[in-house]
This record gives sequence, C-alpha cells and structure tokens, in this order.
Amino acid sequence: MGLKIWLDGKLVDEADAKVSVFDHGLLYGDGVFEGIRVYEGRVFELEAHIRRLYESARMIRLEIPLDKGELGGAMKKTVEANGITDGYIRLVVTRGVGTLGLNPLVCEKSGLIIIADQIQPYAEELYETGIKVISATTVRNHPLALGAQLKSLNYLNNIIARLEALDSGAAEAIMYNHEGYVAEATVENVFIVRDGVIYTPPVAAGALEGITRNLVIRLAKEENLEVVEKNLTRYDLYICNEFFLTGTAAEVIGVVEIDGRTVGDGKPGPITKRLRERFFEYAHSSGK
Ligand code: PMP
Repeated sequence: MGLKIWLDGKLVDEADAKVSVFDHGLLYGDGVFEGIRVYEGRVFELEAHIRRLYESARMIRLEIPLDKGELGGAMKKTVEANGITDGYIRLVVTRGVGTLGLNPLVCEKSGLIIIADQIQPYAEELYETGIKVISATTVRNHPLALGAQLKSLNYLNNIIARLEALDSGAAEAIMYNHEGYVAEATVENVFIVRDGVIYTPPVAAGALEGITRNLVIRLAKEENLEVVEKNLTRYDLYICNEFFLTGTAAEVIGVVEIDGRTVGDGKPGPITKRLRERFFEYAHSSGK
C-alpha cells in the first residue's frame, strides 16, 4: 500500500498525488521547502522549521495557504495517517499553477505538499566509521545572487557539487564560497574541532542556518565546550583534529577523510561522538 500524501488541503493516495506541469515549482524551481524529523511520533523542532519556512516564503513573496497552526496540524495528520513514529517529513510550498512565463503573479494559489516517510541518508555503519568528503570545485551561490538562508526549490548549485563527490567515491562535498571560505556541505552544515575548540562557519559565509547546527551549538555549550563561529579555509579542514557534519537527515556524522587526506586519527573523534549521543538523547526526549 502506498503513502497518504497531503496535497492542497487533503490527504490523497500516493498514486493520486500529482501536480500540474504548469506549476512554477516544476517549471522554475519557484518554491520553498523544509525537511523535518519525527522521533517517537513527535515532530522535532517544529517551531524552528515552520519559522524558517515562513521566512523563506516571505523572502520570495510566496503566500503559504495555511497559517502556522494549521500547517502544524496538517503535518501531524499526515504523520498519523502514515503511521510514522520515526521518520521524515518533506514540506513543499510551490508557487502554484501559472503559464509558460516566469511571472509569479499569474499563479493564483500556491501549492502545498506534505510527505511523511522513512529515510536513511547514510548507512548505519557510516555513523561508526565516518564518511569521506571532497572539496567541491563548484562555488557556493554568491550571497548577493541567492542567499543560502533561503531554503528554496533551487538546489542545482548543491546538486552539481554532490555529483563531484559521487564521481570521486565520496559521500559528501564541501562547498566553498566565492571568497574561498568554507560555506557548508550540500545538505549539511560543517563543524571542525581543533585543540578542543569547536569551529563552524558563520551563516554569512553562505551556509543555511541549520536547525541541527543551532541545536548542536547549544548542546555543545551545555557540555561546557567552546564554540566559535568563524570563517574557515581548506587549511583548517586539512589540519583539524575532528570534523563532523550536521543536518536534519544526517543528524551528526563524523568525517574521516577529506580530499584523500585522513582527518585526525581516521575515526570519528570523542567530541563528535559525544555530540552525537547528546543529540540522540535530546531528540528522543524533546517534547515528551
Ligand atoms: N545546508 C543545506 C544546504 C541544507 O539543505 C540543509 C538541510 N536542510 C542543511 C544545511 C542542514 O540544515 P538543517 O539542520 O536545518 O536540516
């Protein structure tokens, strides 16, 4: 049996969950989205995700057809209808049906899709062994062109970088900004540890303000670890003691190789492991 999908105000069978070929979400990537986790039946960090979604929509002058409370309710209904206790929600708002022209003002009603399903971003053993990454040659979108804080349906910049990673047998690509500073991975934020201090690039370097990022910073501080937001270079990534990525799907995952060079001693480090544990505990107790 297929999934039940929330589409424009009601739950429909997966086979009937179809959008128009004239939806500008498809024609132009005109829309915004969120990826959200469900742990033990509870929607994780719901408010933060809803806030970011509405801010991204506001940035592109896109009207979300439901208010924040209704949207939360629609997500919960979709999760329940699919019996998801531990899974993932994909929330997509498209510009809606228009004509074969860029003009978004002809699209009268935005489209809303909610999918609740299982995900497995990385194989379980990679959380033990850590992943390999490469430095992408594809430069992160210039912030004056398309700011990374806007979580839009345009992921081509990141997709091209991800292809570079896959071509060289790596799981992820690290993207640098137009000035050569580390921005983020294609769907995760970047953290390194050097001499016991945690460093992560500032959002202004071209990183999405990850909800997992913000949470991990908070959890690290609760562990009395120092966290510094500062511009990082390739040098910093090559000489660090620990390296990890954070994201809704990946949670906290160690990086053990970059551009063929071993990170630290080649295994996820103690701070990475500790923060992964703390994240797990928090995710499974939050909202209880
Ligand atoms: N950067 C990009 C480009 C992303 O798509 C994501 C995933 N949403 C992240 C970082 C991590 O953000 P979050 O922790 O909110 O999932």
